[in-house]
Amino acid sequence: MYRSPEVKPDPRRALPAVDRLAGAVGAKRPDLPAWAVLEGVRRALAEARERLSRSVPDSEADGSRVSRDLSDRSAVLAAALCGGQPRRVVNATGIPLHTNLGRAPLAPGAVRAIAQIAASYSDLELDLETGRRGDRLSAVCSKLVLLTEASAALAVNNNAAAVLLALDTLARGREAIVSRGELVEIGGSFRIPDIVERAGVDLVEVGTTNRTHPSDYERAIHSRTGLLLKVHRSNFELRGFVAETSLGQLAEIGREKGIPVVEDLGSGTLIDLSTRGFPAEIYAPARLKLGADVVCFSADKLLGGPQAGLVLGSLEIVEAMRRNPLARALRLDKLSLAALDWTLECYLEGRAERELPVLRQLLVPYHRLETRARALAARLDKVWGGTARIHAEPDRGFVGGGSLPGFELDSWVVVLRASASAEEISKRLRAAPVPVVARLRDDALIFDVRTLLEGDEDAIEQAIGLALEEAGRVE
Ligand SMILES: *Cc1c(COP(=O)(O)O)cnc(C)c1O
Repeated sequence: MYRSPEVKPDPRRALPAVDRLAGAVGAKRPDLPAWAVLEGVRRALAEARERLSRSVPDSEADGSRVSRDLSDRSAVLAAALCGGQPRRVVNATGIPLHTNLGRAPLAPGAVRAIAQIAASYSDLELDLETGRRGDRLSAVCSKLVLLTEASAALAVNNNAAAVLLALDTLARGREAIVSRGELVEIGGSFRIPDIVERAGVDLVEVGTTNRTHPSDYERAIHSRTGLLLKVHRSNFELRGFVAETSLGQLAEIGREKGIPVVEDLGSGTLIDLSTRGFPAEIYAPARLKLGADVVCFSADKLLGGPQAGLVLGSLEIVEAMRRNPLARALRLDKLSLAALDWTLECYLEGRAERELPVLRQLLVPYHRLETRARALAARLDKVWGGTARIHAEPDRGFVGGGSLPGFELDSWVVVLRASASAEEISKRLRAAPVPVVARLRDDALIFDVRTLLEGDEDAIEQAIGLALEEAGRVE
């Protein structure tokens, strides 16, 4: 008798229908909204189909296990969709400027300034005196000029935009000279060679990775040179047999040859912190005094304000940048503007160190860090001392966020060890209602108190509680 060759059914056909799975997930997780459950189910099924099409499934796939996994996976995907983003997290890394964690938190005053403008109409582009059209940037630019003694100032959406605008204004269709030691990549795929190219500027690399001399720049200059670009090495250090052409030397060459010098400072401050142990190079106004024609830096790094790119420089160049049609596409929004204006006022009134969270975190006295770490360790030990080993100790941290590479901050931390791996606990801390991001070292969790904001201790206690309880259940 003829028997047809055995055809195995396509395992993908055994997957449950969307509606049925969505019904099951919805019944199990009534806290999740229907739209998120539906999309979570679709994504989970797509993943399963993709997996099945790639691999040969074992012949006796356990049907009930597959559907339970699918339902759990759908719920996880659905929850991720409706959790909101960005969400508040606790930064226990000790890194005040963590780009992945949103860089500088704003001062309460800056937040109030945003809230007021967000919910009402404003004189954003209306001159209240004349009743005519006004300039959205006039107030912040005046303040920047007062604070820095620059001839002119400009603010755009972020520092990458400021650098792009400077390149486009000064060197489009021509050349920009950059040292090979400064062709950097900042996190989030901001690469100097790429941004130069995008601005329609030909990049001329000079020197070597470790050494660039003034004569390297001089030899590369010719009639098509539009600008000399100096880029701050924000996230790495060069040590050993190195030579760098200083900003002052570059400015001298620029003056001699009549070519503008632009510095991408990355992170800049408006108060000189060199007497407090910080490098002098981050003080933005001093860069102009050293001879830069234009300095660009971020407002949400060491400055401690909202996301924005600040430009200081000569009247002629800054005006040309302002008139560049690209400036319209890169302009600052009204909410950031409100926060920036408030932040600059803070500097003018001498309140910056007291009020801006980033400066407070950088300048906090060491003994306060110790007190805070000991208090947190004692509080956690009281509740979880039976389950985990917890103590406070001194440690070192970094500034982060494209600021002061290699510069260490003496800090105090709480160290927690439990029977579950630090990796596992850290994953659970990130899944808490208020996620907590800590450091890991030698299979211990490290909570650095420098970057804790008010109320963060409560969130940490809650998150640790959930993480350790779950660990207890699993074991
Ligand atoms: C951070 C940084 C940038 C990017 O600034 P954004 O404000 O993130 O756009 C560019 N250049 C340098 C040197 C930086 O450090």
